[in-house]
Amino acid sequence: MTIPASADTLLPLSELRRPHDWRWQLSHSVSDAAALARALPLSEPEQRGVAALGERGFPLGITPYYLGLIDAADPDCPIRRQVVPRIEELEHVPGDLADPLGEAEHEAAPNLIQRYPDRALLFATDRCAVYCRFCTRSRLVGAGGGARSLDRLGPAFDYLRAHPEISDVIISGGDPLVMATDRLVRLVAAVREIESVQTIRLATRVPVVLPQRVTDELLQALRPFHPLWIMTHFNHPKELTVEAAEALERLADAGFPVMNHSVLLRGVNDDADVLAALFRGLVRRRARPYYLLQADPVRGTGHLRTPLQTGIDIMRRLQGRLSGIALPKLIVDTPGGLGKVPVGPDYVVARREGVTRFRTHRELEVDYFDPPRRAGTANGDPGCDGLECGRKEH
Ligand code: SF4
Repeated sequence: MTIPASADTLLPLSELRRPHDWRWQLSHSVSDAAALARALPLSEPEQRGVAALGERGFPLGITPYYLGLIDAADPDCPIRRQVVPRIEELEHVPGDLADPLGEAEHEAAPNLIQRYPDRALLFATDRCAVYCRFCTRSRLVGAGGGARSLDRLGPAFDYLRAHPEISDVIISGGDPLVMATDRLVRLVAAVREIESVQTIRLATRVPVVLPQRVTDELLQALRPFHPLWIMTHFNHPKELTVEAAEALERLADAGFPVMNHSVLLRGVNDDADVLAALFRGLVRRRARPYYLLQADPVRGTGHLRTPLQTGIDIMRRLQGRLSGIALPKLIVDTPGGLGKVPVGPDYVVARREGVTRFRTHRELEVDYFDPPRRAGTANGDPGCDGLECGRKEH
């Protein structure tokens, strides 16, 4: 396989994974139909999907590094399914929405979305290193405008200052880590100056699709603004390359807690073994798998979504097989922006007064007894006489 490095030069596959600098990666991104067709033998649904990019209104963009992870001989390659457009993107299915999380309705100020009392999301840029075909924010991402200036974000900062109950700001987009370092640092510094903001999170797919961006220069520039959390987005164990692992290691060494959310995607990771390998691999690199997200019903992504029961069945298979730090919550972000809901297998078989019967991951049933009620205790707390309650500290 070769990819176009410019209009008139071609790079062999062996070049793609070389540690080229991140700017080289971005400037050599595959972003048009001709370049993609030269890089990969496209199937008919992919050719039609690429031809219909304008109609969908969501751009194409794949870094050479991420393109190099695609198995060109496998039409079902899980990396390919995440970034190569298909004609199904033009299909509408019942329940799908252009803005599934109701972000437009929850815009507290321009470029600031608030869906929870203590958290807000700052839209820093519409640019990404790759354009994921399942993106929840595809209506905005890649739509133009680039990185937002501090002036343009002024009303958002004013809102945050006027609402000290917001203690957690997620800098997102788009991907803030594709911004120039000095620009990103000025933005993070401006958020950090707001006294009521305790936690800043950077939502980014850069460790997955452009790990070269996680440079010492970037980490040193951001360190003064800790606590800074990295919220990243690995979906498949193929993405845990040497380069990605090194990026995660550098982040952890520099004191950034790294949390991963994966989106459950048909034909990509809707398999318990695949996810077990991914979650174990992340923990090994000190990244915590914290959410497995049921895919949002974004218009044009029906072919990538799974029924809710698929995720529940996968969680049942993973419970007990993975340790607590490797097992994320399965989450549905409810349509309309009404909030995240954890879902999962129901382990409660029966309940009667004071006794709950569970079925464990071993398919064994066991009763759990509440402590006996005792007279005269406050708030329903059964109290403890130190003799019969079974608390282990006695
Ligand atoms: S990197 Fe994130 S914001 Fe950008 S296209 Fe992918 S999912 Fe959407």
